[in-house]
Amino acid sequence: MSTGDGSYDYFQFVQQWPPTTCRVRGKCSNPRPIQIFTIHGLWPSNYSNPTTPSNCIGSQFKESMVSPRLRSKLKRSWPNVEGSNDTRFWEGEWNKHGRCSQQTLNQYQYFERSHEMWHFHNITNILKNASIVPHPTQTWTYSDIVSTIKAVTQTTPLVRCKQHKKTQLLHEVVLCFEYKALKQIDCNRTAGCPNQQAISFQ
Ligand code: 5GP
Ligand code: 5GP
Repeated sequence: MSTGDGSYDYFQFVQQWPPTTCRVRGKCSNPRPIQIFTIHGLWPSNYSNPTTPSNCIGSQFKESMVSPRLRSKLKRSWPNVEGSNDTRFWEGEWNKHGRCSQQTLNQYQYFERSHEMWHFHNITNILKNASIVPHPTQTWTYSDIVSTIKAVTQTTPLVRCKQHKKTQLLHEVVLCFEYKALKQIDCNRTAGCPNQQAISFQ
């Protein structure tokens, strides 16, 4: 199914906190998910339309375009936290999202750029340096988290949460990039955590 013709305005670079992904999905095989922010995807997006273009026409994922060197980088930055097959996850993200930005980034560039984005701003360390670290009971406000990241990246990120039982968990941090995926820009979507007063990070 195609829901976009490949036109887009900017990119959302989405990183996830694997323990939250695993809690809300409840299907991670690894009993102790990795404790660093990892890549969920790089999504071409539009300002006017809240649904991102997806499943565009264009080359399907080719495993041969993931060099051994790139593969070893993506194994760190973009692991499949819900299963053991990393390549499957990359394939799904390229086919659903990556193909919609093919006029700008070919498959190799799409994954290289994503890894560079992950490497350049280490979200886990940025939060840790502000003493925002996993904790069973402490909570932070939306603005605690956003302003901490903004102070380092100089642009406004977007934070997304997931509700789990009675707790609102920090789930994803989104950094936004302009059309060419080179320069970071402010994310101007509305906040992704319904309760901006109490966000749990665990
Ligand atoms: P989730 O990871 O929340 O289960 O799935 C989110 C899905 O919505 C993904 O498939 C993603 O491609 C799509 N999506 C597109 N645009 C957005 C957006 O702005 N926010 C979120 N949360 N998901 C989006
Ligand atoms: P999107 O549609 O946003 O591209 O992707 C949404 C889907 O990504 C969700 O349905 C979720 O299952 C999946 N997702 C998030 N993290 C992972 C992961 O680590 N591995 C896999 N296979 N899927 C993931």
